[in-house]
Amino acid sequence: MQTARGHENDSLMIGRFQPFHNGHLEVIRKISKLSENLTIGIGSAQYSHTVSNPFTAGERYRMISNSLKDSGIDNASIVPIEDLNRYSVWVSHVISMSPPFSVVYSNNPLTRRLFLEAGYEIKASPLYNRSEYSGTEVRRRMMVGEDWRPLVPKAVADVIDDIDGIGRIRGLKDD
Ligand code: ATP
Ligand code: MG
Repeated sequence: MQTARGHENDSLMIGRFQPFHNGHLEVIRKISKLSENLTIGIGSAQYSHTVSNPFTAGERYRMISNSLKDSGIDNASIVPIEDLNRYSVWVSHVISMSPPFSVVYSNNPLTRRLFLEAGYEIKASPLYNRSEYSGTEVRRRMMVGEDWRPLVPKAVADVIDDIDGIGRIRGLKDD
């Protein structure tokens, strides 16, 4: 049903996408089919240039946007969301930054708890090949010079090449 607050199947998924990888793309492919509109929130948007958060919100936006375009996914909005470090008001913060949504897809216990308390429908999303498709594993391979390209969409590798992402990561110290 379409209301002033959007469609009952409008949904939200949040990740840090450091970087956007094939697991993210697979889950978004699935969620986008189940949703009228899907919002992809880029979490911890203010961080970049650290070992666990190497890429800026703008770089991550480009990785996601180009990957969705190549995959023919056309019902997703991308919204950068900065951390507030104040969980009691974090859901309101996300709502203020996002198109309307009714369903939240997340496996993160804190995210699930906060949206549950705010009255949202929470759904778990399936994990695809989690031992390889994880941001931590992609960043590890980038740091030590192993082949990370099979783990990400081609559009992501193109953005990383364009900004010399590997040079950036190798120059970073532990954070
Ligand atoms: P990191 O290792 O940096 O935490 P991550 O791979 O866990 O990276 P996040 O950026 O933390 O990815 O995004 C978290 C969201 O992406 C969660 O909702 C999680 O369920 C989903 N996700 C992560 N990896 C996969 C995967 N392999 N398959 C499906 N969903 C995934
Ligand atoms: Mg994670």
